[in-house]
Amino acid sequence: MDIFEKCDGYTRSREVKASGLYAYFIPLAGSEGTEVEIGGRRLIMIGSNNYLGLTHHEHVRQAAIEAIRRYGTSCSGSRFLNGTLELHEELERRLAAFMGMEATLCFSTGFQTNLGAISAICGKDDVILCDRENHASIIDGCRMSFADVFKFRHNDVADLEKQLQRAGDRGKLIVVDGLFSMMGDLAPLREIRALADRYGARLMVDEAHSMGVLGANGRGAAEHLGVRADLVMGTFSKSFASLGGFIAGPASVIEFMRHHARPLIFSASIAPASAAAALASLDLIETRPEMRQRVLAVAHRVRTGLAELGFQTAGTQDSPIVPVIVGQQERMLLLWRALFDAGLFTNAVTQPAVPVGQDLIRTSYIASHTDEQIGQVIERFAMAGRKFGIVDAAPRTA
Ligand code: PMP
Repeated sequence: MDIFEKCDGYTRSREVKASGLYAYFIPLAGSEGTEVEIGGRRLIMIGSNNYLGLTHHEHVRQAAIEAIRRYGTSCSGSRFLNGTLELHEELERRLAAFMGMEATLCFSTGFQTNLGAISAICGKDDVILCDRENHASIIDGCRMSFADVFKFRHNDVADLEKQLQRAGDRGKLIVVDGLFSMMGDLAPLREIRALADRYGARLMVDEAHSMGVLGANGRGAAEHLGVRADLVMGTFSKSFASLGGFIAGPASVIEFMRHHARPLIFSASIAPASAAAALASLDLIETRPEMRQRVLAVAHRVRTGLAELGFQTAGTQDSPIVPVIVGQQERMLLLWRALFDAGLFTNAVTQPAVPVGQDLIRTSYIASHTDEQIGQVIERFAMAGRKFGIVDAAPRTA
């Protein structure tokens, strides 16, 4: 049997494209952050993780340009051999201070950070306790580690406790997303921390969507909930307006990862422009708390506006992510298309990213969205929702 045979038999994407409802790999001709250009039209971007709007901030752009002038466009090798710049080390020192942790280690993407950190620290004698809805990079990091993986039901601390009991006295790592990217809900970190302490497990929190946005200092969901994690993962592709990721933890653990994480040792390091952009974004995250207050206020206004119209939104109030649950896949894609035609760039989310029957339109906000843009977002949602009978013709008063 030819291993390519399954590809000839794969027709689903072509069928959806033919129906005009294909929502993926849409090329942008240009971007100004809150607005993008597609096929000669301008759309309001509410499908990006650029939460603080820093991808177009002058301080960040200038830092990236300056780094290219100084170091060129690529490091042409891994951190382990020729690809460590002083810039990477400065970034790691600054991130450790920002997080209030002993040390950090940067990887070339957030995905690689989870792969590398989890697989370095967990081995065949260990158990990883993993929320079922954790990000794919965590799931894959667990697979790569050769540890036993005990999955627990999403945000279900009773189920987590059962799995901890089952793991006995083996080495244990509990790993969760702090803020889940699709449903926009927070992990119950206080309860999880208490269980970790009771059962002698370590806790790792992926703060990809919460860092820069939540917590008094912008450190993420754990800070927001007043919880200490043993390991914290962050990514530069969202609030940090760049590409790359990092893990923060005790100095001895970070030193161990530096010499055991394969995605670090065998992959080229973060490009100079990306490292400099992350560092410049950190300057702003540390000194401009009003940016995170603004993005949360924008998301709050949309969440309230959509709920008043009758849309079913999900997730916590304290989040830049506002998922709109539609349910059935085709209905969700029809709504997505109508929003797109009306000038809104949103994300169409289906299985496996969400459970069956929970298809949703993921919207996410940017600190630099204007009040006028937000007004337009709500109006356009109202029009499209009414067209497909997803919300009532007249707004609700309650
Ligand atoms: N963790 C979470 C929770 C994510 O949502 C993502 C990406 N969306 C990643 C890790 C991977 O980060 P990156 O895109 O920077 O590789």
